[in-house]
Amino acid sequence: MVLSESHPARQAEGLTTTQAAGRLATDGPNVLPQRPPTRLWQRVLTQLRDPLIIVLLIAAALTLVTGDWADMAVISMVVVVNTLVGVVQEVRADHAISALTELTAPAARVVRDGAQREIPAADVVVGDLLVLGEGDILAADAAACESEALAIDESAVTGESVPVDKNTTTAAGLSAGTVVVRGRGRAVVTAVGAASATGRIAYLLDQRHGSTPLQRRLTDFGRILAGVVVALCAVVLVLGLFRGQPVELMVVTAISLAVAAVPESLPAVVTLSLALGARRMALRRALVRHLPAVETLGSVTVLATDKTGTLTEGRMAARRIWTPEVEASVTGTGYAPTGVVTVADRPLRPGDQPAITAILAAGTLCNDARLSPPPDAETTEWTALGDPTELALLAAATKLDLDIDDLRTRLPRVAECPFDSDRKRMSTAHRHADGTYRIVCKGAPEAILTTAVLDDEPALFAQAAEQAEQWAQEGFRVLAVAQADRETPPRSGDEDMEQHLRLLGLIAIYDPPRIAAAATVAACDRAGIRPVLITGDHAGTARAIATRLGILRPDGPVIDCRSEVGDPDMVTSPVFARTSPGQKLSIIEALQRSGHVVAMTGDGVNDGPALQRADIGIAMGGRGTEVARQAADLVLADDNLDTVVVAVEEGRRVYDNIRRFLVYGLSGGAAEIAVMLVGPFFGLGLPLLPAQILWINLLTHGLPGVALGGEPAEPDAMNRRPRPPTESILGGGLWQRVLRIAVVLTAVTLGIAVWAAATGRPWQSMAFLALGMTQLGAALGSRTRARSLDNPLLLVAVVGAMLLQLAGLYVPFLRDILGTEVLALPDLLTVCAVSVLGYIAVRLDRFLHPSRHRPVEATS
Ligand code: ADP
Ligand code: MG
Repeated sequence: MVLSESHPARQAEGLTTTQAAGRLATDGPNVLPQRPPTRLWQRVLTQLRDPLIIVLLIAAALTLVTGDWADMAVISMVVVVNTLVGVVQEVRADHAISALTELTAPAARVVRDGAQREIPAADVVVGDLLVLGEGDILAADAAACESEALAIDESAVTGESVPVDKNTTTAAGLSAGTVVVRGRGRAVVTAVGAASATGRIAYLLDQRHGSTPLQRRLTDFGRILAGVVVALCAVVLVLGLFRGQPVELMVVTAISLAVAAVPESLPAVVTLSLALGARRMALRRALVRHLPAVETLGSVTVLATDKTGTLTEGRMAARRIWTPEVEASVTGTGYAPTGVVTVADRPLRPGDQPAITAILAAGTLCNDARLSPPPDAETTEWTALGDPTELALLAAATKLDLDIDDLRTRLPRVAECPFDSDRKRMSTAHRHADGTYRIVCKGAPEAILTTAVLDDEPALFAQAAEQAEQWAQEGFRVLAVAQADRETPPRSGDEDMEQHLRLLGLIAIYDPPRIAAAATVAACDRAGIRPVLITGDHAGTARAIATRLGILRPDGPVIDCRSEVGDPDMVTSPVFARTSPGQKLSIIEALQRSGHVVAMTGDGVNDGPALQRADIGIAMGGRGTEVARQAADLVLADDNLDTVVVAVEEGRRVYDNIRRFLVYGLSGGAAEIAVMLVGPFFGLGLPLLPAQILWINLLTHGLPGVALGGEPAEPDAMNRRPRPPTESILGGGLWQRVLRIAVVLTAVTLGIAVWAAATGRPWQSMAFLALGMTQLGAALGSRTRARSLDNPLLLVAVVGAMLLQLAGLYVPFLRDILGTEVLALPDLLTVCAVSVLGYIAVRLDRFLHPSRHRPVEATS
């Protein structure tokens, strides 16, 4: 489409829904070309390329040559079933992952049908009017048509990290993927999709793909395990040959055993558990953006949060005003002007107290926020756009009946030095009708009450500083406001304008703590996660909030980051005040160096690097900026910090279930090998035939193994310490448990076989049944709670597997293939009864050797 067709005035109205739908249909969605989806045959091929499967295929060829049809049939079935299960799991995991991606897909604000709307960035079309605010990521290439101090970080495109000012007069072109660091504006989209790719490519490259750390560790572990298993199977082979067993029988046996003993489905089980865990998190309003985050969440040891909006409501209200002449109070909460400014309990009118009027007028001018009355009679909420601190100032001004729009038109802004968390102050310059200029500066008291900024008497400084300190101790956020009139025209970004000013006074702003935050802090404590508060606010304000929420003991240390902070302090302190964004990063890095796994919340434009650096970056879905959301690993859809605790619990559950599967799978595999290795020494020539081994493997590891991933969280999951990040997946006493259980499984199987052989029963079939049944007993014993229906799938899987096991004995056709014999009812019942030991072994082991992750001791 050709842009010039539309008149600028019409452009500024945006598109209608019909227009947009039409363009979307013709131009396609605003997305970058995707990797083509993996085809089914590709997936099948990947499965068949697995070394173990290749070995099995060789075995199948061998049986074909020797005419051993029965083994040939079973092996082929194992290959088919394995491939099928593998492919299905992979597809399911892929679906779960893409569902996640959709949940946290980038969004854009546009004007459609004359109203501002948030839509998926993929639906943005050429000609759309983008509404830009601080922290937004450009969803497409666009041309700015309205700009209020709009500054863009173009580093994604140019590599240059200094923000570029964009005003409409220079026909500012904006590139997709760049970030609004300051100001506001509107822009008409000029190119979408692949045509606007420049910035977004760099952005996409950043998205981590591939396997998770846990998967990588498990792959390594799998290799070692495979080596051990192959060596043991070679021993079984040699032993068999030594005893005069036929060569091809022994080769096929050894191969089958190797296949059975290695939990080859492990990586698939892990992916699926992670993906399903992520889906459960999403249902509980915690959106995970990268799969590895699911496993990392379980081991988080520090939760670093910002204060404003996370621990507090983020709805600020001015409460007190101090000027050298007079003090005033402000009533009412929220941004609606329901409240009054009072002096000595008497409501003020504009002009009653010139000092109060002056400071509130200054706070209105040096202000980028916007407060507009409800659009219609039905809504009572005022529309609030911008920084909560500044909105509080606007609300206070309206409570004094100051006309904000009138003020802003009479004194138009001509230059500014914007706020940032490093300087902690901002200044604006305005032109009077007579051609002179007014400079207004506001910021943290320590950033204003200095001789570099003010020309006032030192005595006044001291008085103001004392008042500010007192308010900070009471938990207020304090702003100092200063101004001056002068003749020389100021220039934007020139900090010289912030000199020779006069103090107007102080404003105390209150941001109520979130009631729920105290409960979250307590939950973190119980789960061994240390809450840490990192804020740009004053130490006194931070202390007040932190003690109220239980983050800090009443006399605990608060680190003021304006002074030098050493690593030891960074690692142990619960509260950091007056931090700059750079220091946030240093704190996270110091914690990580000392072995912590750090989760950190953030929502500002400057928080991106820290969010990325943290092990788990957390952004708020509603309140956070797009930049924060896209840099985060976890997005809280409901903006509620407590959701982090929920996510951690799910993370721990996933990890526990993977370990559950490992104990089950590895002990079963070890038992299979042990039976084959030790059996001959008890006079059992070849304890199990290859087909029998494969059959057992198929039904024990197949569905029951995967179903273990659906077990609910352990009841104590959130009352124990996080696992040490360095601990191996088999750590914490797990491999010892594998061995203990394997010993029981082996002993039961061999015991039955030896007894049956001695009493002239079909011992091999009984060993076959016993090995399968004890393992299924162990599966049942591995459940979180013994008597519950929380995970019905597991029960179904176990019952199904038991039936298949019996079918292997009683269905004539299967009996032929597996080489089994019918068991008499008493024999059958005996084996089943003894197999209960598999169940008992696991329960007893869990009771005698509880998890080594210690519960959190009560702290004083
Ligand atoms: P936080 O992480 O607590 O939001 P900030 O870095 O945003 O911290 O703010 C630090 C200090 O800067 C505040 O305590 C306040 O005194 C001052 N400040 C915050 N916002 C503004 C603003 N818009 N204009 C001027 N000063 C501000
Ligand atoms: Mg802030």
